[in-house]
Amino acid sequence: MDEIVKWLDENAPTELLGTSRGGGAFDGYWGGRRAVDSTPARLRWLEVCASRGLCAPTWLPAYGGAGLSREEAARFEALLRERGLPPPLVGFGLAMLGPVLLEFGTEDQKRRHLPGIASGQIRWCQGYSEPEAGSDLAALACKAEIHDEEIVLTGQKVWTSHADVCDCMFALVRTSTKGRKQEGISFVLVDLEQSGVERRRIRLISGASPFCEVFFDEARAKLSDLVGGRDQGWTVAKALLGHERTAIGSAIGSQLVSLEKALVGAARQHLGVDDGPLPDGLLRDAIARCLIDERCLALTISRVGQSDRPGPESSVLKIAGSEIKQRRHALMMRLTAGEGLGADDDVTRDWLRSRANTIEGGTTEIQLNIIAQRVLGLST
Ligand SMILES: Cc1cc2nc3c(=O)[nH]c(=O)nc-3n(C[C@H](O)[C@H](O)[C@H](O)COP(=O)(O)OP(=O)(O)OC[C@H]3O[C@@H](n4cnc5c(N)ncnc54)[C@H](O)[C@@H]3O)c2cc1C
Repeated sequence: MDEIVKWLDENAPTELLGTSRGGGAFDGYWGGRRAVDSTPARLRWLEVCASRGLCAPTWLPAYGGAGLSREEAARFEALLRERGLPPPLVGFGLAMLGPVLLEFGTEDQKRRHLPGIASGQIRWCQGYSEPEAGSDLAALACKAEIHDEEIVLTGQKVWTSHADVCDCMFALVRTSTKGRKQEGISFVLVDLEQSGVERRRIRLISGASPFCEVFFDEARAKLSDLVGGRDQGWTVAKALLGHERTAIGSAIGSQLVSLEKALVGAARQHLGVDDGPLPDGLLRDAIARCLIDERCLALTISRVGQSDRPGPESSVLKIAGSEIKQRRHALMMRLTAGEGLGADDDVTRDWLRSRANTIEGGTTEIQLNIIAQRVLGLST
Protein backbone atom coordinates (compact mmCIF):
# COMPACT_ATOMS: atom_id res chain seq x y z
CA MET A 1 0.00 0.00 0.00
CA ASP A 2 2.92 2.38 0.63
CA GLU A 3 3.82 1.86 -2.99
CA ILE A 4 0.26 2.80 -4.08
CA VAL A 5 0.34 5.94 -1.92
CA LYS A 6 3.58 6.99 -3.63
CA TRP A 7 2.14 6.08 -7.03
CA LEU A 8 -0.98 8.16 -6.33
CA ASP A 9 1.09 11.17 -5.33
CA GLU A 10 3.03 10.91 -8.57
CA ASN A 11 0.18 10.07 -10.96
CA ALA A 12 -3.12 11.57 -9.81
CA PRO A 13 -3.91 14.63 -11.97
CA THR A 14 -3.79 17.69 -9.73
CA GLU A 15 -6.84 19.13 -11.55
CA LEU A 16 -8.94 16.30 -10.13
CA LEU A 17 -7.83 16.56 -6.49
CA GLY A 18 -10.76 17.59 -4.28
CA THR A 19 -13.29 17.33 -7.11
CA SER A 20 -15.12 14.10 -6.20
CA ARG A 21 -18.78 14.17 -5.21
CA GLY A 22 -18.24 10.64 -3.86
CA GLY A 23 -21.43 9.34 -5.37
CA GLY A 24 -20.53 5.65 -5.64
CA ALA A 25 -20.57 3.19 -8.51
CA PHE A 26 -22.57 5.36 -10.92
CA ASP A 27 -21.19 8.85 -10.32
CA GLY A 28 -18.10 9.68 -12.37
CA TYR A 29 -16.56 8.99 -15.74
CA TRP A 30 -18.25 6.22 -17.75
CA GLY A 31 -15.76 5.80 -20.61
CA GLY A 32 -16.67 4.05 -23.87
CA ARG A 33 -16.00 4.81 -27.52
CA ARG A 34 -18.76 7.43 -27.59
CA ALA A 35 -17.66 9.13 -24.35
CA VAL A 36 -19.34 12.50 -24.07
CA ASP A 37 -18.03 13.83 -20.78
CA SER A 38 -14.29 13.32 -21.22
CA THR A 39 -11.72 15.93 -20.23
CA PRO A 40 -7.94 15.61 -20.66
CA ALA A 41 -7.53 15.14 -16.88
CA ARG A 42 -10.20 12.39 -16.69
CA LEU A 43 -8.73 10.59 -19.69
CA ARG A 44 -5.23 10.76 -18.18
CA TRP A 45 -6.56 9.52 -14.82
CA LEU A 46 -8.38 6.64 -16.52
CA GLU A 47 -5.31 5.75 -18.55
CA VAL A 48 -2.86 5.65 -15.63
CA CYS A 49 -5.24 3.67 -13.43
CA ALA A 50 -6.20 1.25 -16.21
CA SER A 51 -2.53 0.57 -16.97
CA ARG A 52 -2.17 -0.70 -13.37
CA GLY A 53 -5.53 -2.50 -13.33
CA LEU A 54 -6.85 -0.07 -10.73
CA CYS A 55 -10.23 0.58 -12.37
CA ALA A 56 -11.20 -2.97 -11.34
CA PRO A 57 -8.77 -3.48 -8.45
CA THR A 58 -10.01 -6.94 -7.36
CA TRP A 59 -10.14 -8.54 -10.83
CA LEU A 60 -7.22 -10.67 -11.92
CA PRO A 61 -4.56 -9.02 -14.12
CA ALA A 62 -5.55 -11.39 -16.97
CA TYR A 63 -8.97 -9.70 -16.93
CA GLY A 64 -7.62 -6.15 -16.73
CA GLY A 65 -7.60 -5.88 -12.92
CA ALA A 66 -4.88 -5.44 -10.30
CA GLY A 67 -5.47 -8.68 -8.37
CA LEU A 68 -5.92 -6.84 -5.04
CA SER A 69 -7.78 -8.38 -2.11
CA ARG A 70 -11.09 -6.78 -1.07
CA GLU A 71 -9.36 -5.15 1.89
CA GLU A 72 -6.60 -3.71 -0.30
CA ALA A 73 -9.17 -2.44 -2.80
CA ALA A 74 -11.16 -0.80 0.03
CA ARG A 75 -7.95 0.87 1.22
CA PHE A 76 -7.28 2.16 -2.32
CA GLU A 77 -10.81 3.58 -2.49
CA ALA A 78 -10.30 5.22 0.92
CA LEU A 79 -7.08 6.82 -0.37
CA LEU A 80 -9.02 8.29 -3.30
CA ARG A 81 -11.69 9.61 -0.95
CA GLU A 82 -9.09 11.20 1.35
CA ARG A 83 -7.73 13.11 -1.67
CA GLY A 84 -11.18 13.97 -3.05
CA LEU A 85 -10.28 12.04 -6.22
CA PRO A 86 -13.09 10.57 -8.31
CA PRO A 87 -12.97 6.87 -9.16
CA PRO A 88 -11.16 6.60 -12.51
CA LEU A 89 -14.14 4.79 -14.05
CA VAL A 90 -17.72 3.90 -13.09
CA GLY A 91 -20.63 2.23 -14.81
CA PHE A 92 -22.73 -0.84 -15.45
CA GLY A 93 -19.76 -2.80 -16.84
CA LEU A 94 -17.75 -2.53 -13.64
CA ALA A 95 -20.59 -2.65 -11.12
CA MET A 96 -22.99 -5.11 -12.76
CA LEU A 97 -21.83 -7.04 -15.84
CA GLY A 98 -18.26 -7.69 -14.66
CA PRO A 99 -19.26 -9.45 -11.43
CA VAL A 100 -21.73 -11.77 -13.23
CA LEU A 101 -19.20 -12.60 -15.95
CA LEU A 102 -16.77 -13.53 -13.19
CA GLU A 103 -19.42 -15.82 -11.68
CA PHE A 104 -21.21 -17.24 -14.74
CA GLY A 105 -19.01 -16.44 -17.76
CA THR A 106 -16.84 -18.91 -19.63
CA GLU A 107 -13.08 -18.31 -19.59
CA ASP A 108 -13.36 -17.13 -23.20
CA GLN A 109 -16.11 -14.61 -22.29
CA LYS A 110 -14.08 -13.29 -19.35
CA ARG A 111 -10.95 -12.81 -21.47
CA ARG A 112 -12.86 -11.19 -24.34
CA HIS A 113 -15.04 -8.79 -22.34
CA LEU A 114 -13.56 -7.97 -18.93
CA PRO A 115 -10.41 -6.13 -20.16
CA GLY A 116 -12.56 -3.81 -22.33
CA ILE A 117 -14.66 -2.96 -19.26
CA ALA A 118 -11.67 -2.48 -16.93
CA SER A 119 -9.89 -0.17 -19.37
CA GLY A 120 -13.00 1.95 -20.02
CA GLN A 121 -12.92 1.19 -23.75
CA ILE A 122 -16.35 -0.42 -23.90
CA ARG A 123 -19.39 1.02 -22.18
CA TRP A 124 -22.36 -1.26 -21.47
CA CYS A 125 -26.05 -0.61 -21.02
CA GLN A 126 -28.75 -2.79 -19.48
CA GLY A 127 -31.47 -4.21 -21.72
CA TYR A 128 -33.95 -5.64 -19.23
CA SER A 129 -37.18 -3.59 -19.30
CA GLU A 130 -39.69 -3.77 -22.15
CA PRO A 131 -43.02 -1.98 -22.69
CA GLU A 132 -44.91 -4.94 -21.17
CA ALA A 133 -42.19 -6.12 -18.79
CA GLY A 134 -41.04 -3.82 -15.98
CA SER A 135 -41.86 -5.06 -12.49
CA ASP A 136 -43.02 -8.30 -14.09
CA LEU A 137 -39.63 -8.67 -15.78
CA ALA A 138 -40.03 -12.35 -16.60
CA ALA A 139 -42.85 -11.41 -19.01
CA LEU A 140 -40.24 -10.10 -21.45
CA ALA A 141 -40.82 -10.97 -25.10
CA CYS A 142 -37.79 -9.78 -27.12
CA LYS A 143 -37.31 -12.81 -29.37
CA ALA A 144 -33.97 -14.56 -29.86
CA GLU A 145 -33.61 -17.34 -32.43
CA ILE A 146 -30.49 -19.43 -32.52
CA HIS A 147 -29.07 -20.27 -35.97
CA ASP A 148 -25.81 -22.22 -35.86
CA GLU A 149 -23.30 -19.90 -34.17
CA GLU A 150 -25.52 -16.81 -34.25
CA ILE A 151 -28.43 -15.43 -32.26
CA VAL A 152 -30.95 -13.30 -34.17
CA LEU A 153 -32.81 -10.72 -32.06
CA THR A 154 -36.16 -9.10 -32.86
CA GLY A 155 -38.07 -6.94 -30.39
CA GLN A 156 -37.89 -3.87 -28.20
CA LYS A 157 -36.29 -2.65 -24.98
CA VAL A 158 -37.29 0.51 -23.12
CA TRP A 159 -35.88 2.83 -20.43
CA THR A 160 -32.41 1.71 -21.48
CA SER A 161 -30.24 4.23 -19.64
CA HIS A 162 -27.63 5.89 -21.87
CA ALA A 163 -28.05 3.38 -24.74
CA ASP A 164 -27.28 6.19 -27.19
CA VAL A 165 -23.75 6.58 -25.80
CA CYS A 166 -23.05 2.90 -25.08
CA ASP A 167 -21.16 0.43 -27.24
CA CYS A 168 -22.81 -2.80 -26.12
CA MET A 169 -25.81 -4.09 -24.21
CA PHE A 170 -26.29 -7.02 -21.84
CA ALA A 171 -29.83 -8.08 -22.66
CA LEU A 172 -32.45 -10.49 -21.44
CA VAL A 173 -34.15 -12.22 -24.36
CA ARG A 174 -36.73 -14.94 -24.89
CA THR A 175 -35.28 -18.13 -26.29
CA SER A 176 -38.24 -20.35 -25.41
CA THR A 177 -41.97 -19.99 -24.75
CA LYS A 178 -42.33 -23.42 -23.14
CA GLY A 179 -42.75 -23.94 -19.39
CA ARG A 180 -42.73 -21.18 -16.77
CA LYS A 181 -41.92 -17.76 -18.21
CA GLN A 182 -38.67 -17.59 -16.21
CA GLU A 183 -37.48 -20.80 -17.87
CA GLY A 184 -37.25 -19.48 -21.44
CA ILE A 185 -35.02 -16.45 -20.81
CA SER A 186 -31.39 -16.09 -21.89
CA PHE A 187 -28.76 -13.48 -21.02
CA VAL A 188 -26.87 -12.29 -24.10
CA LEU A 189 -24.18 -9.73 -24.93
CA VAL A 190 -25.03 -7.59 -27.95
CA ASP A 191 -22.88 -5.17 -29.94
CA LEU A 192 -25.05 -2.09 -30.57
CA GLU A 193 -22.97 -0.87 -33.51
CA GLN A 194 -24.82 -2.80 -36.23
CA SER A 195 -27.54 -2.16 -38.77
CA GLY A 196 -30.24 -4.22 -37.00
CA VAL A 197 -30.22 -1.92 -33.95
CA GLU A 198 -32.06 1.38 -33.66
CA ARG A 199 -31.72 3.62 -30.59
CA ARG A 200 -34.32 6.33 -30.02
CA ARG A 201 -33.84 8.82 -27.23
CA ILE A 202 -36.73 9.41 -24.84
CA ARG A 203 -36.90 13.13 -24.16
CA LEU A 204 -37.97 14.11 -20.64
CA ILE A 205 -39.81 17.26 -19.57
CA SER A 206 -36.47 18.66 -18.37
CA GLY A 207 -35.15 18.45 -21.93
CA ALA A 208 -32.63 15.76 -20.96
CA SER A 209 -32.62 12.32 -22.59
CA PRO A 210 -31.10 9.88 -20.12
CA PHE A 211 -32.97 6.89 -21.56
CA CYS A 212 -33.60 5.28 -24.92
CA GLU A 213 -35.93 2.85 -26.58
CA VAL A 214 -33.88 0.22 -28.39
CA PHE A 215 -35.33 -1.69 -31.33
CA PHE A 216 -33.85 -4.93 -32.66
CA ASP A 217 -34.71 -5.94 -36.22
CA GLU A 218 -32.84 -9.17 -36.87
CA ALA A 219 -29.84 -7.87 -34.96
CA ARG A 220 -27.05 -10.40 -34.45
CA ALA A 221 -25.17 -11.66 -31.42
CA LYS A 222 -22.67 -14.50 -31.17
CA LEU A 223 -23.79 -17.77 -29.66
CA SER A 224 -20.52 -17.66 -27.71
CA ASP A 225 -21.89 -14.49 -26.03
CA LEU A 226 -24.77 -16.29 -24.34
CA VAL A 227 -23.89 -16.09 -20.63
CA GLY A 228 -24.86 -18.91 -18.25
CA GLY A 229 -26.33 -21.17 -20.95
CA ARG A 230 -29.42 -21.23 -23.15
CA ASP A 231 -32.70 -20.63 -21.22
CA GLN A 232 -30.67 -20.16 -18.01
CA GLY A 233 -30.66 -16.36 -18.12
CA TRP A 234 -33.06 -15.79 -15.21
CA THR A 235 -30.45 -16.92 -12.69
CA VAL A 236 -27.85 -14.60 -14.24
CA ALA A 237 -30.42 -11.77 -14.39
CA LYS A 238 -31.24 -12.06 -10.67
CA ALA A 239 -27.57 -12.19 -9.71
CA LEU A 240 -26.93 -9.01 -11.71
CA LEU A 241 -29.88 -7.28 -10.02
CA GLY A 242 -28.29 -8.15 -6.66
CA HIS A 243 -25.17 -6.22 -7.71
CA GLU A 244 -27.25 -3.35 -9.13
CA ARG A 245 -29.33 -3.01 -5.96
CA THR A 246 -26.27 -3.12 -3.74
CA ALA A 247 -24.62 -0.42 -5.89
CA ILE A 248 -27.73 1.81 -5.76
CA GLY A 249 -28.00 1.35 -1.98
CA SER A 250 -24.27 1.91 -1.47
CA ALA A 251 -24.14 5.15 -3.40
CA ILE A 252 -24.79 6.88 -0.12
CA GLY A 253 -22.03 5.37 1.98
CA SER A 254 -19.12 7.18 0.38
CA GLN A 255 -20.77 10.61 0.44
CA LEU A 256 -21.11 11.17 4.16
CA VAL A 257 -18.54 13.90 4.77
CA SER A 258 -19.53 16.02 1.78
CA LEU A 259 -23.16 15.42 2.65
CA GLU A 260 -22.81 16.63 6.22
CA LYS A 261 -21.04 19.76 5.00
CA ALA A 262 -23.70 20.39 2.34
CA LEU A 263 -26.67 19.99 4.70
CA VAL A 264 -25.23 21.98 7.59
CA GLY A 265 -23.85 24.61 5.18
CA ALA A 266 -27.25 25.03 3.52
CA ALA A 267 -28.95 25.25 6.94
CA ARG A 268 -26.54 27.96 8.07
CA GLN A 269 -27.18 29.96 4.93
CA HIS A 270 -30.93 29.44 5.24
CA LEU A 271 -30.98 30.61 8.89
CA GLY A 272 -28.30 33.26 8.43
CA VAL A 273 -25.94 31.94 11.16
CA ASP A 274 -22.22 31.46 10.66
CA ASP A 275 -21.34 29.19 13.57
CA GLY A 276 -22.58 27.59 16.81
CA PRO A 277 -25.63 25.30 17.07
CA LEU A 278 -28.39 25.88 14.52
CA PRO A 279 -31.10 27.94 16.23
CA ASP A 280 -34.01 25.90 14.79
CA GLY A 281 -34.61 22.78 16.88
CA LEU A 282 -36.85 21.07 14.31
CA LEU A 283 -34.30 21.57 11.58
CA ARG A 284 -31.48 20.34 13.83
CA ASP A 285 -33.53 17.24 14.50
CA ALA A 286 -34.28 16.61 10.80
CA ILE A 287 -30.61 17.00 9.81
CA ALA A 288 -29.39 14.82 12.69
CA ARG A 289 -31.92 12.09 11.82
CA CYS A 290 -30.87 12.13 8.19
CA LEU A 291 -27.16 11.94 9.04
CA ILE A 292 -27.65 9.22 11.68
CA ASP A 293 -29.65 7.07 9.24
CA GLU A 294 -27.03 7.55 6.53
CA ARG A 295 -24.21 6.67 8.91
CA CYS A 296 -26.07 3.52 10.05
CA LEU A 297 -26.55 2.50 6.43
CA ALA A 298 -22.89 3.16 5.62
CA LEU A 299 -21.84 0.94 8.55
CA THR A 300 -24.30 -1.77 7.49
CA ILE A 301 -22.94 -1.67 3.95
CA SER A 302 -19.34 -1.94 5.14
CA ARG A 303 -20.43 -4.99 7.22
CA VAL A 304 -22.61 -6.85 4.70
CA GLY A 305 -22.45 -5.08 1.34
CA GLN A 306 -19.12 -6.43 0.11
CA SER A 307 -20.21 -9.82 -1.17
CA ASP A 308 -19.22 -11.33 -4.52
CA ARG A 309 -22.74 -12.77 -4.62
CA PRO A 310 -25.26 -10.39 -3.10
CA GLY A 311 -28.52 -12.29 -2.66
CA PRO A 312 -32.10 -11.06 -2.17
CA GLU A 313 -30.91 -9.20 0.95
CA SER A 314 -29.57 -6.56 -1.46
CA SER A 315 -33.21 -5.41 -1.70
CA VAL A 316 -32.93 -4.15 1.90
CA LEU A 317 -29.93 -1.99 0.98
CA LYS A 318 -31.70 -0.77 -2.15
CA ILE A 319 -34.80 0.37 -0.25
CA ALA A 320 -32.83 1.94 2.60
CA GLY A 321 -30.35 3.70 0.29
CA SER A 322 -32.93 5.09 -2.09
CA GLU A 323 -35.40 6.22 0.57
CA ILE A 324 -32.72 7.90 2.70
CA LYS A 325 -31.38 9.62 -0.40
CA GLN A 326 -34.84 10.95 -1.24
CA ARG A 327 -35.25 12.24 2.31
CA ARG A 328 -31.90 14.03 2.11
CA HIS A 329 -32.76 15.74 -1.18
CA ALA A 330 -36.20 16.74 0.16
CA LEU A 331 -34.42 18.29 3.15
CA MET A 332 -32.02 20.18 0.88
CA MET A 333 -35.02 21.53 -1.03
CA ARG A 334 -36.58 22.62 2.26
CA LEU A 335 -33.36 24.41 3.22
CA THR A 336 -33.09 26.22 -0.09
CA ALA A 337 -36.82 26.81 -0.55
CA GLY A 338 -37.60 29.94 -2.45
CA GLU A 339 -34.17 29.93 -4.06
CA GLY A 340 -34.09 26.51 -5.67
CA LEU A 341 -37.64 25.54 -6.53
CA GLY A 342 -38.33 25.66 -10.23
CA ALA A 343 -34.83 26.84 -11.04
CA ASP A 344 -32.40 24.88 -13.12
CA ASP A 345 -29.90 24.42 -10.30
CA ASP A 346 -28.15 21.40 -8.76
CA VAL A 347 -30.40 21.18 -5.69
CA THR A 348 -33.60 21.04 -7.72
CA ARG A 349 -32.11 18.70 -10.31
CA ASP A 350 -30.77 16.31 -7.64
CA TRP A 351 -34.14 16.34 -5.86
CA LEU A 352 -36.04 15.58 -9.06
CA ARG A 353 -33.55 12.85 -10.00
CA SER A 354 -33.91 11.25 -6.57
CA ARG A 355 -37.62 10.53 -7.31
CA ALA A 356 -36.38 7.83 -9.67
CA ASN A 357 -34.26 6.10 -7.01
CA THR A 358 -37.26 4.10 -5.75
CA ILE A 359 -38.14 2.99 -9.30
CA GLU A 360 -34.82 2.16 -11.06
CA GLY A 361 -33.38 -1.27 -10.38
CA GLY A 362 -36.88 -2.45 -9.37
CA THR A 363 -39.49 -0.43 -7.46
CA THR A 364 -39.76 -0.33 -3.67
CA GLU A 365 -42.96 -2.42 -3.81
CA ILE A 366 -41.12 -5.13 -5.72
CA GLN A 367 -38.20 -5.03 -3.25
CA LEU A 368 -40.70 -5.44 -0.39
CA ASN A 369 -42.18 -8.48 -2.16
CA ILE A 370 -38.69 -9.97 -2.58
CA ILE A 371 -37.82 -9.38 1.07
CA ALA A 372 -41.13 -10.92 2.19
CA GLN A 373 -40.81 -14.02 0.02
CA ARG A 374 -37.10 -14.68 -0.44
CA VAL A 375 -35.54 -13.21 2.72
CA LEU A 376 -38.27 -13.76 5.33
CA GLY A 377 -39.76 -16.85 3.67
CA LEU A 378 -43.36 -15.59 3.85
CA SER A 379 -45.71 -17.22 1.36
CA THR A 380 -47.97 -15.29 -1.00
C1 LIG B 1 -33.89 6.34 -13.71
C2 LIG B 1 -34.27 5.01 -14.29
C3 LIG B 1 -33.32 4.29 -15.01
C4 LIG B 1 -33.66 3.05 -15.58
N1 LIG B 1 -32.71 2.40 -16.30
C5 LIG B 1 -33.02 1.19 -16.86
C6 LIG B 1 -32.04 0.51 -17.66
O1 LIG B 1 -30.92 0.99 -17.87
N2 LIG B 1 -32.38 -0.69 -18.20
C7 LIG B 1 -33.61 -1.26 -17.99
O2 LIG B 1 -33.82 -2.37 -18.47
N3 LIG B 1 -34.57 -0.62 -17.26
C8 LIG B 1 -34.30 0.60 -16.71
N4 LIG B 1 -35.25 1.27 -15.97
C9 LIG B 1 -36.61 0.71 -15.88
C10 LIG B 1 -36.95 0.19 -14.50
O3 LIG B 1 -36.28 -1.02 -14.22
C11 LIG B 1 -38.49 0.03 -14.44
O4 LIG B 1 -39.04 1.33 -14.54
C12 LIG B 1 -38.96 -0.61 -13.15
O5 LIG B 1 -38.55 -1.96 -13.09
C13 LIG B 1 -40.50 -0.54 -13.02
O6 LIG B 1 -41.11 -1.03 -14.16
P1 LIG B 1 -42.26 -0.16 -14.90
O7 LIG B 1 -41.71 1.22 -15.10
O8 LIG B 1 -42.70 -0.92 -16.09
O9 LIG B 1 -43.43 -0.02 -13.83
P2 LIG B 1 -44.61 -1.06 -13.59
O10 LIG B 1 -44.04 -2.43 -13.50
O11 LIG B 1 -45.69 -0.81 -14.58
O12 LIG B 1 -45.10 -0.63 -12.14
C14 LIG B 1 -46.03 0.45 -11.93
C15 LIG B 1 -46.35 0.52 -10.45
O13 LIG B 1 -47.00 -0.71 -10.03
C16 LIG B 1 -46.32 -1.27 -8.93
N5 LIG B 1 -46.34 -2.73 -9.02
C17 LIG B 1 -46.14 -3.49 -10.13
N6 LIG B 1 -46.21 -4.80 -9.83
C18 LIG B 1 -46.43 -4.89 -8.50
C19 LIG B 1 -46.57 -5.98 -7.58
N7 LIG B 1 -46.48 -7.26 -8.00
N8 LIG B 1 -46.75 -5.70 -6.27
C20 LIG B 1 -46.84 -4.41 -5.84
N9 LIG B 1 -46.73 -3.33 -6.66
C21 LIG B 1 -46.50 -3.57 -7.97
C22 LIG B 1 -44.89 -0.75 -9.04
O14 LIG B 1 -44.24 -0.76 -7.77
C23 LIG B 1 -45.11 0.65 -9.56
O15 LIG B 1 -45.39 1.53 -8.51
C24 LIG B 1 -34.96 2.51 -15.40
C25 LIG B 1 -35.92 3.24 -14.68
C26 LIG B 1 -35.59 4.48 -14.13
C27 LIG B 1 -36.63 5.24 -13.38
